[in-house]
Amino acid sequence: MGATIQRTLILLKPDALQRDLIGAVVGRFERKGLKIIGMKMIRLEDAVLDTHYAHIADKPFYKDVKEFMMSTPVVAMVLEGQDAIAAVRLILGPTRGYEADAGSIRGDFSIGVASNLVHASDSAEAATAEIDRFFNVNELFEYEKITDKFFYEG
Ligand code: ADP
Repeated sequence: MGATIQRTLILLKPDALQRDLIGAVVGRFERKGLKIIGMKMIRLEDAVLDTHYAHIADKPFYKDVKEFMMSTPVVAMVLEGQDAIAAVRLILGPTRGYEADAGSIRGDFSIGVASNLVHASDSAEAATAEIDRFFNVNELFEYEKITDKFFYEG
């Protein structure tokens, strides 16, 4: 079966900002050919983090995750492309930087688990909910790239 065009939600976490890696990380996504259709800097509030991280809210480390995620603003992005959700997770690498392959973002830039630079949606359901959580419809943009025009698969 051919690839489908998907959208995925990215958060560049406080360690990306603190370590001056925003440009390097965004560059990885651009070089892959993903289309940036939304991008802004925001401060994460308590309530939105409780929703976003509901699946780890009962973990002992959650309090620290929350403090970390609120320690600076974050950069939120929506990326679009063929099978973008899995493609971005592949470029990002697994949660733990020390397990991530060299060449992936976490493999190249992160050694720990808490400070792993980027959040990316992990399923179609999560992507839909997360894009809706962080972006208004009028903050998402449609435009054509040359690579869209010559997309024949599927
Ligand atoms: P991912 O971000 O790769 O989808 P999870 O959804 O499992 O990973 O976890 C959310 C975030 O919580 C991780 O990206 C990481 O920042 C943090 N986290 C996960 N597990 C731990 C842990 N054992 N100790 C500290 N922080 C953790």
